[in-house]
Amino acid sequence: GSTLEIKDLHVEIEGLEILKGVNLTIKGGEFHAVMGPNGTGKSTLASAVMGHPKYEVTKGSILLDGEDVLEMEVDERAQAGLFLAMQYPSEISGVTTSDFLRSSINSLREEGDEIPLMQFIKKMDETMDYLEIDKNMAQRYLNEGFSGGEKKRNEILQLMMLEPAMAILDEIDSGLDIDALKVVSKGINKMRNEEFGCLIITHYQRLLDYITPDHVHVMMQGRVVKSGGPELAERLEAEGYDWIKEELGIED
Ligand code: ADP
Ligand code: MG
Ligand code: MG
Repeated sequence: GSTLEIKDLHVEIEGLEILKGVNLTIKGGEFHAVMGPNGTGKSTLASAVMGHPKYEVTKGSILLDGEDVLEMEVDERAQAGLFLAMQYPSEISGVTTSDFLRSSINSLREEGDEIPLMQFIKKMDETMDYLEIDKNMAQRYLNEGFSGGEKKRNEILQLMMLEPAMAILDEIDSGLDIDALKVVSKGINKMRNEEFGCLIITHYQRLLDYITPDHVHVMMQGRVVKSGGPELAERLEAEGYDWIKEELGIED
């Protein structure tokens, strides 16, 4: 499996420092959850790893298997094995879900080694069945008019089709009803193997009732301030974040 190492990461948005030294290492086979109050920089972390141009890394490093991710263009990051599910996935007009998936898969493969059409269709059909996605979605324009739940299911469809080495899922649970949450979790759990590492960003403990992380991290004010096992998420659910603030002497 791959290893993603985030070291002393400092990130600014429009001159304002949002991440103030994040350290996190995720190995293949591991599921990590990052939790934390709103506005503490969780999405900023995801965007910085994927190379969003608005997010300027001013200090620190991001390495994937020792390779400098910060030196890579966005498409090179995907080719290196990184996958990002966005908190707010965008619509792509004129491109069907099926075409988008097929060209995404092929962009990760060598030229001349494109996935055979029948193999692609079979895999897409099976994966859509598994995620209880209506078959019509394949021919709809990506995310156009999709409900919140459909967008999230579609993100997991992409994840399962692309089989990246390392995924960052940002609030994949937000706005889902319980049935959609179960399906999305089922898909993420299906990905579990030694070759796959995953960073699950979530505001709520609820998702972690269905996906058991190996490690749980709490982010506050632009840093990872506490790490533990699944029991840490349970304590946060029961007691909120105030005890951590008190423990660390953090003011609001
Ligand atoms: P979280 O995901 O933990 O809720 P974010 O990473 O979205 O937090 O935001 C962290 C901080 O950065 C917040 O104060 C937010 O207002 C600010 N921020 C996030 N994105 C932008 C942006 N595109 N432009 C300006 N400020 C931003
Ligand atoms: Mg938020
Ligand atoms: Mg966020």
